Amino acid sequence: MAGQLRFDNRVVVITGAGSGLGKAYALEFAKRGAKVVVNDLGCSISGEISSKIPADATVAEIKQLGGIAFANYDSAEFGHKIIQSALEHFGRVDVVINNAGVLRDNSMVKISENDWDTIMKFHLKTTFSVTKAAWAHMKKQKYGRIINTSSGAGLYGNFGQANYSSAKIGIHGFTQTTAREGEKNNIKVNTIAPIGASRMTSGIFTKDILEMLSAEKIVPLVVCLAHESCNESGSLFETSGGWIAKLRWQRGKGIFFSKNFTAEDVEMQWNTINSFEHCDYPKNSIDTLQKVVALAEEANIPK
Ligand code: NAD
Repeated sequence: MAGQLRFDNRVVVITGAGSGLGKAYALEFAKRGAKVVVNDLGCSISGEISSKIPADATVAEIKQLGGIAFANYDSAEFGHKIIQSALEHFGRVDVVINNAGVLRDNSMVKISENDWDTIMKFHLKTTFSVTKAAWAHMKKQKYGRIINTSSGAGLYGNFGQANYSSAKIGIHGFTQTTAREGEKNNIKVNTIAPIGASRMTSGIFTKDILEMLSAEKIVPLVVCLAHESCNESGSLFETSGGWIAKLRWQRGKGIFFSKNFTAEDVEMQWNTINSFEHCDYPKNSIDTLQKVVALAEEANIPK
């Protein structure tokens, strides 16, 4: 049996660790020996009013368990401040969990530019900002683990969440690119799309379902992805209520028009274009180009 995944001498930065999923992560990393930076703005679910209470409460719980942690109250959009305070307290940064987030749900008729900008700032910008600030240190030490937080709303869309779903799918684009950039320096970046009980979901599900979806059930995947033994990078996992599964792109065989073609030809071939028979699982955009070049060669089209 493999030994416990330990984090002794590792420094773990978690944004939004004052409540919900982030708090559950913080407690577990501390139990496993990590020094934890508990970042939380202490804001309402829509991002207003800030308070030190949630971050302080998580730190107090960790200390009660005999763990090591300190609180940082900056908004995660100011990643350099969070990473600076991690370096001042603990001297290094090994793991970043970009978890902070808020909601500003509104359908397209009602959504304001402020709703849009706030969600971009609280999800995409925070993820970029903390990662960017940690990156130089991870690169120098040739080691880093980053976990970004997406959502089913981002993967599949959800009524009233155009802002949130755009930011959340954007976060996985960010993961895929930074995973490539981190390859040479042992920086692994992955995305999770969780469903867990927290104040974000307390109004949506019944008590029974919320019990089944406890935040603690999201923790094992995050701990596993954050460990030095994990070689996964650029991947996306859904997890909820004890279920964990990987997602990937699937592409149909499609159709190649070797001669001039029109909108009507496209319409005629609609079923073929939409078919997933003989599909493949592309990993990068070079795959696409190589495929098109091969098809053109097959059809004797001059390059
Ligand atoms: P939560 O509201 O319980 O906790 C979020 C925490 O982030 C709060 O303590 C809040 O103060 C903090 N925060 C918000 N903006 C911040 C900022 N700019 N800087 C620092 N701290 C900030 O929410 P949760 O359910 O634990 O969600 C955690 C993450 O998981 C979010 O990114 C959310 O979008 C994502 N998510 C959650 C679910 C779910 O089912 N709970 C589903 C999909 C995605």
